[in-house]
Amino acid sequence: MAEILAAGVALKPALALLRAGDVVAIPTETVYGLAGDATNGIGVARIFEAKGRPRFNPLIAHVADMAMAEHIGLFDRLSESLALAFWPGPLTLVLPQRPGNGIHPLVTAGLDTIALRMPRGFGRDLIANLGRPIAAPSANSSGRISATTAQAVAADLGDRIRLVVNGGATPVGLESTIVKAEGGRLRLLRPGGIAAGEIEAAVGMALLRGGSAGIEAPGMLASHYAPDAAVRLDARTVAQDEALLGFGDRRAEGWQHAAAFRNLSQSGDLREAATNLFAHMQELDRVGARAIAVEPIPSDGLGEAINDRLSRAAAPRDNPAPAA
Ligand code: AMP
Ligand code: MG
Repeated sequence: MAEILAAGVALKPALALLRAGDVVAIPTETVYGLAGDATNGIGVARIFEAKGRPRFNPLIAHVADMAMAEHIGLFDRLSESLALAFWPGPLTLVLPQRPGNGIHPLVTAGLDTIALRMPRGFGRDLIANLGRPIAAPSANSSGRISATTAQAVAADLGDRIRLVVNGGATPVGLESTIVKAEGGRLRLLRPGGIAAGEIEAAVGMALLRGGSAGIEAPGMLASHYAPDAAVRLDARTVAQDEALLGFGDRRAEGWQHAAAFRNLSQSGDLREAATNLFAHMQELDRVGARAIAVEPIPSDGLGEAINDRLSRAAAPRDNPAPAA
């Protein structure tokens, strides 16, 4: 059962968990967040595992200051003015990622953009002391409503996490507002704790709404998630013009002759497999093989989200891959 500690005495134990690649539930001004080190794939995989999320949707990376934010994302003028006006606070900005920023690809579900926010209070102190960004979706199991008290977090996730930091009831009680700059305009991707009108007043123009090229809600995975190569699931054999994505220690027949091979987890550990998923898919795609054959992966625990991601990659494409 998770320990509940008052925020005033929880900084050290919370840091120790994050440094060990574990998760911790923390108060923020919006709702309670389930935090993991955003640069540590195991920590991020544990977030999905503890929430029981059936798919890998991109998470918000939380920062302590502008220097950390600028190390992670590429700010345009509009996004920078919003950060100055509303951070720390319940506003999330979607930005292009700065290459080499150290963010684990599981945080962004393999996207080249990232959602960034600077929270107030305990979360910000925690990040500043860790010296690294944290990924933190709401601290509730998948499909349940967001928790706004430490007791609600413990009742829901208490048997799956070690520590809930108690900062009292969260002041805003709503998720953050998410916006993204697009060619000199701003698009509202999710309404939340800062009213759209406040943002419009700050930038002096109306927000665009609906119909974005990006991801608007958890699970709306656009076709740019798909690799160029075709993807073939549950492969028991592999052809020479296919790359092989393996799982566990039993190989598909013909694996020695595959165009390339990566193993998500030799020991069959789904958490390790989750941390390798996006990087391995990208590496195999770069080989230029006709298809990526994927060995069977069990669908318990994180396997459900892994299989969800893979079956999306294998689904018929809206935008056919350009001829090589
Ligand atoms: P949560 O962390 O549960 O509050 O949810 C995060 C929200 O941010 C989800 O609605 C995501 O779809 C959205 N999000 C995260 N990263 C991105 C991104 N790179 N582009 C667009 N939306 C994003
Ligand atoms: Mg949520």
